[in-house]
Amino acid sequence: MDKGNVIEGRPGSPSYAIGKLFVYERKTYRPLHVKAEDTSFELKRYERARQDAIDSLSIAYERINNRAGARNAEIFKAHTMILKDEEYNARVINNILTDEMNAEWAVSDAGRYFYEFFNALEDESVSAKATDIKDVTNKLIRLLTGTDNSPEINEPVILASPYLTPSELVQIKRDNLKGIVMLEGSLYSHVVILARTVGIPVVLGVYMPESLTGHEAIIDGVNGQVFTDPDPELKDKYGRLIEEEARADCELKKYIGLETVTGYGRKVNLYANIAGLNDAEYAMECDCEGIGLIRTEFMFLDRDTLPTEEEHFNAYKEIVELCAGKRVVFRTLDLGSDKGGTLLDLKEEENPALGKRGIRVCLTNKELFIAQLKGILRAAAYGDVSVMYPMITSGGEILRIDHMMEQAMEELDREGVPYGEVRQGIMIETPAAAMISDELAAMVDFFSIGTNDLTQFTLALDRQNRELAQFYNPMHEAVMRMIQLTIDNAHEEGIPVTVCGELASDPDAIKHLVDMGVDALSVSPKSVLKVRKAICEM
Ligand code: PEP
Ligand code: MG
Repeated sequence: MDKGNVIEGRPGSPSYAIGKLFVYERKTYRPLHVKAEDTSFELKRYERARQDAIDSLSIAYERINNRAGARNAEIFKAHTMILKDEEYNARVINNILTDEMNAEWAVSDAGRYFYEFFNALEDESVSAKATDIKDVTNKLIRLLTGTDNSPEINEPVILASPYLTPSELVQIKRDNLKGIVMLEGSLYSHVVILARTVGIPVVLGVYMPESLTGHEAIIDGVNGQVFTDPDPELKDKYGRLIEEEARADCELKKYIGLETVTGYGRKVNLYANIAGLNDAEYAMECDCEGIGLIRTEFMFLDRDTLPTEEEHFNAYKEIVELCAGKRVVFRTLDLGSDKGGTLLDLKEEENPALGKRGIRVCLTNKELFIAQLKGILRAAAYGDVSVMYPMITSGGEILRIDHMMEQAMEELDREGVPYGEVRQGIMIETPAAAMISDELAAMVDFFSIGTNDLTQFTLALDRQNRELAQFYNPMHEAVMRMIQLTIDNAHEEGIPVTVCGELASDPDAIKHLVDMGVDALSVSPKSVLKVRKAICEM
């Protein structure tokens, strides 16, 4: 019997989906040609890119307006105004017609001219426009050079791609994503973690050619298989599995409202890891006891511009209010060149995991960091807020953070803006931090162990590399000893420890972590009730 074509891969997120395939391949870069061969053709290219940019900004405006309100969406209107600005357009057109530049070069030149003009102005309210001009210009250049990548999806599909960056993923409406098939990536890639957060099935290690777009497929994220053009019998079978899954989720609901406590009476706090407001709603439905990790970078990856203090504040306040008094831990931006996006002009790096990322980005972009800290402090006036810092390796970094935190508070005091108290913690996700956790414990209010990175760095093994999946072992004796050392040092100082890496929801690890003395686990919302069940049954 013909069941359809089965392609074997690896499980990424354990769930099932039936749907239409959409294959997305990132376009590659076209080099700049300075001299226009046909000026009227270049003019048309410019006009088309300008219109595409206006259209995409209008979509972005609607999306952010619905999700985070008009104030957060304002930036897209400002960018549209630049695209419609007479002087900006006149300069580009003149560059093409008179100086015979090609469209991308003409845009780049105009952008530089206006950027320098506004940047030189004393008046801050006007000079801020320089950044907007740079962003708009970059957007146009990406459109003209075919590097403005994001899959355009307008209906629910199974998305297949050789590799997706987190910034591409966050641009897709969640309702339109039934499942993901990727060639590259691993269980610990951020895209896969984000999909697991909300229970979207993922199969890894499978390449799908673009010709399969529009074909029907089944993805089985439990066994790591993709079936293309499945026959009705197979569709029935997976239809039943999807129903069973929904029933099992329903069964777990009896753990809603229960305390997370072992049979022998040990209480473990159970928090959720989220990437934004939508996840927070889902996490609350899953009855988490708070939010143990907000990966704040994902809230801003779908845009070109750095968030202002006001935007940070508005976005965080909504989450804090939604959590209605439950604990909320904001992790400051853990940006790096591996996450994609154009938020910061981070150069591509040979080793992005070891590169300019996490706290290194924040400590070297003072303005960005202070704006975020002020946003978090202000949101803290509305609930129980903590802040934690990623990729810490030394006490010196904590001193520098403290200094910036003081500055953020001083600025708010001076401006007369109200803010709340925040507890400050650090991620223990580098071997360095684990090894000196005795020293670090005396400097902060809590630890959160990021086992995804801690494993990657301890085993010297790229967490994203699909070829290495069989060697990636977060329960390696070396990692477990570092976790134990961290817990012991924290407790010696009287501070609590959460584990927030993927290990916290691994059925084989939960008991070990609880026995090792961990105070809290922070897991994807989808896993909250499963983990509570596992702990209650201990
Ligand atoms: C970790 O490294 O374990 C972690 C929780 O952070 P991220 O997965 O975002 O790097
Ligand atoms: Mg990490």
